[in-house]
Amino acid sequence: MIIVMKENATQNQIQDIKKRSEGLGCAVHVYEEGSHCLLGMVGDTSAINISQTEAEVCVDKIVIVQEPFKRANRLFHPDNSIIKVDDRTIGGKEIAIIAGPCAIESEVQLITIAKDVKLAGANFLRGGAYKPRTSPYSFQGMEEEGLRILLEAKKITGLPIVTEVMSVELVEKVTQYADVLQIGARNMQNFDLLKEVGRCNKTILLKRGMSATIEDLLMSAEYIMSEGNEKVVLCERGIRTFETFTRNTLDLSAIPVLKKLSHLPVIVDPSHASGKWWLVEPLAKAAIAVGADGLEIEVHYDPANAMSDGPQSLKPEKFEALIASIRVIAKTQRKIVR
Ligand code: PEP
Ligand code: MN
Repeated sequence: MIIVMKENATQNQIQDIKKRSEGLGCAVHVYEEGSHCLLGMVGDTSAINISQTEAEVCVDKIVIVQEPFKRANRLFHPDNSIIKVDDRTIGGKEIAIIAGPCAIESEVQLITIAKDVKLAGANFLRGGAYKPRTSPYSFQGMEEEGLRILLEAKKITGLPIVTEVMSVELVEKVTQYADVLQIGARNMQNFDLLKEVGRCNKTILLKRGMSATIEDLLMSAEYIMSEGNEKVVLCERGIRTFETFTRNTLDLSAIPVLKKLSHLPVIVDPSHASGKWWLVEPLAKAAIAVGADGLEIEVHYDPANAMSDGPQSLKPEKFEALIASIRVIAKTQRKIVR
C-alpha cells in the first residue's frame, strides 16, 4: 500500500501518519522528491483503515500495490535508483561497463586484463575468485588469493571490484575486498545468502537464475532490500529455453519489463547469455538499445587457454571495438560511456 501525500503536506503530517502506521504493525518507507511525498507501507497493512486514511486532509490518495515486491517496486520510488560505487554510478546517465576474466588465474593474468579493459573504457573490474562450476572437477577459483589479486588490480587501475560471493560464510571475507558483491544465477534463490548480503553495506549485483521468472528475480531483490540494503543491481544473463545453439537465451524483453516494474538499475551479461564470443557484441548493442544501464562482459587475452568460459570471452581488442559501438547506441538512449 502506498499513501500519496498532498503536495502541501507538512513534515508534521507526514511524520504523524508514519508513526500511526508503524503503530499498526507495518514498516513505512518515506520517499520525498521536491514537494512530493509517498509513504510506502510494507508488511501487514490489514490494520490500516483505508477510507479513514484517505479522508485525511493531507492525503491525496491510496494506491494498493498488487505485486508481491514492494521495496523494489517503481510505485514506491518513481525515479530510477542511482547507485554510487566509488566515483561511478549505476542506473544514471553513465553506462556501467563491468569487464574482466571469468576467473582469476594468476596475478599477471588479472593485472594484464585489468589494464586492457580500463584502457578500452571499462569502469568496473570483474573476476571470479570463488567459482560456481557445474563440475566439481573443474577449476574452483583461487579463493582468498584471488581476492588479494583483485585488490592489487584495483590499486593499479582504480577500477572498483565486482566478484561473486557463493555462501553465507564468505560474505564477511569478500566484503573486505570487493566493492560490488555478485550473487550468481545458481544462488539467486539462496534466501539465507540474500538476507546476509542484505545486512552488508556493499552494492549487490543480483543475477537472474536460469529458470527464474522476472517476478522471482524481483522477489530475490526484495529479500536483500527487506534487510535494509537498497543498493541492488539486477542482471539479465540469459535463461534456459529449448534452444541449444546458444548457452542460454537472452531475454531482451526482461530489460524494459524490469525497468517498468522496478526503479532498480538493470544490466545485461551477454557473455553467459550466449556462450559464444561473436554473439557478445550484437547482444550488448541490443541490450543498451532496449534500455539496459550497463553490461557485464568476460574478457581474456588467451580465450583458448582460459581456465573458465574461454569460448565466450572477448579478446581485449574485440572488447575495445565493442565499447566503440556501445558509445554510439548509448547516445540514442541519452546515456554515456565514460
Ligand atoms: C559469472 O559471472 O562468472 C557467472 C558464473 O555467472 P552466472 O552466475 O550468471 O552463471
Ligand atoms: Mn563465467
